[in-house]
Amino acid sequence: MKALLLVDVQNDFCPGGALPAPFGDEVVPVINSLLDSFDLVVASKDWHPPQTVHFEKWPPHCVRDTHGAEFHPGLKAEKIDKIFLKGTDDKDDGYSAFEATNADLTDYLRGKGIKQLFVTGLTTEYCVKESVMEALRQGFETFMIEDAVKGIGVHPDDIPNAISDMQKAGAKMISSYDLLKPN
Ligand SMILES: [Zn+2]
Repeated sequence: MKALLLVDVQNDFCPGGALPAPFGDEVVPVINSLLDSFDLVVASKDWHPPQTVHFEKWPPHCVRDTHGAEFHPGLKAEKIDKIFLKGTDDKDDGYSAFEATNADLTDYLRGKGIKQLFVTGLTTEYCVKESVMEALRQGFETFMIEDAVKGIGVHPDDIPNAISDMQKAGAKMISSYDLLKPN
């Protein structure tokens, strides 16, 4: 059984948002094209309180119940089986979808018999990376769909370094084409 994880495909991480990945919105059609190919679709949302120490490091973003915290309007969110909310406390936490506080992602995936997790979303070098690393630690066979993620790229090497770290930890790189091509 395989699951697709959508990390933080939220307005604030897309162009025009508070903490945008350049071209972040380009993951949306790729993710939409993949939604029917999986047994289960789960999504995380960065879901911060209005005041949090997290905002000493980052511009305020994804404040719960605001437009910035909503999924990108083009995302076929009705296909998502369950949403996991993270970064919900006044802490500098919530990079990994596995840190969600409304439900335990590991327990949920194991309960559904998921062995393989395919990770997409925003942003490559922060929340995607931390979600991939934790998925590997939890024992899932973990794939990152390279054309379904986008990074911020504060420093030019940040994104390639993150991909290299994920590969060294055991993540497999795959493209949406590999998943969609006919056998
Ligand atoms: Zn955040």
